[in-house]
Amino acid sequence: MIIIIFFIVHWYVSLFFQSFFNHRYAAHGMFTMSKGWEKVFYILSWLTNGSSFLSPNTYGILHRMHHAFADKEKDPHSPKFSPNPFALMLKTRNIYSDIWHRRIPLEKRFTDGVPYWKFMDVFGESNGSRLFWVVAYTAFYIAFATAWWQFLFLPLTIVIGPFHGVVINWFAHKIGYSNFKVSDTSKNFLPVDVLMLGESYHNNHHKRPNNPNFGFRWFEMDPIYPFILLFNALGIIKLKKAGEATSVDFELSEVEVAQLKAEFANLQSARTSLQLRPETKFRQYLEAWDSFVKQDWQGDMNEYLRNLQVRKEIEEFLQTTNENLREKLKSFVEPLDQKFREKMVPWKKEMMEKLNFSMPSPHFWESNSIYQVG
Ligand SMILES: [Zn+2]
Ligand SMILES: [Zn+2]
Repeated sequence: MIIIIFFIVHWYVSLFFQSFFNHRYAAHGMFTMSKGWEKVFYILSWLTNGSSFLSPNTYGILHRMHHAFADKEKDPHSPKFSPNPFALMLKTRNIYSDIWHRRIPLEKRFTDGVPYWKFMDVFGESNGSRLFWVVAYTAFYIAFATAWWQFLFLPLTIVIGPFHGVVINWFAHKIGYSNFKVSDTSKNFLPVDVLMLGESYHNNHHKRPNNPNFGFRWFEMDPIYPFILLFNALGIIKLKKAGEATSVDFELSEVEVAQLKAEFANLQSARTSLQLRPETKFRQYLEAWDSFVKQDWQGDMNEYLRNLQVRKEIEEFLQTTNENLREKLKSFVEPLDQKFREKMVPWKKEMMEKLNFSMPSPHFWESNSIYQVG
């Protein structure tokens, strides 16, 4: 019994620090913290992940590469390029090691602002530290195991960090459902994430990589998000304002939010989630549109069409609201539309000419203001 309890507690506690510190902080910088707290979490990361401690610095760099090249050839771990989870683990390990030893060139965008504490990085990854934990875990199992089969959990205890990694990197890119159409294979692995502390909402996360709350729909509860809010309230961390993270300028007064709510409550066809939190939904669509128009445009027609859908959702908001509020909402959207007109529309026009297509009948909103090439 003690072994089972230990395994379960260890599962969640080690995962907490991997997700909170390595993933959300080191890789994505969803919040900031002082150098002192950074050291505290570095040490907690080592204590909880033990023999499978992963350098937050190397993890952060590796994970940024995953997002940048998701499911493309340069992705450090895409199930598209590995035959099974073990091969994926091995490949990830090799690239991890290349990054740790700085054997491969690393783009500045992957290394900028990732925390680095050389002492803990070297110590935590040393053979001495790993051996110490393996011996400690084994001794604990010998002392408390009451049946032989409980020893089956020992190998998993030893490699718990990478094991958590492979669950998401393999399965959440293979199995599950999607809330968002994205250009990679990321899925929401479990609708109610009792196993991976929110990391299962991987499709949500790929769509909104800087959002500290991995949940999106009402039943998608991210257990780590309340801790982030708590740590923020306690002053341990400082959440980035949405503006800093996404550079979308979106602020509504309480009156305006109430108005928006009232309007969506009246709308028969509005989905329940829209009626409950229209201002949050609007922000989400705005952020999605923002990240689309500001990306390095690679000219992916599918992505273009998908994001027209996002813009269509925004338009739905604009059409539903009264005139005053509409003007206000429009003022958030227009600078982004302007970027779209400058960047993507000429590309589409060129594409159409190249393919010898006449312009297809434009989207309903394209035809008004957006699609006019300046
Ligand atoms: Zn992923
Ligand atoms: Zn991520």
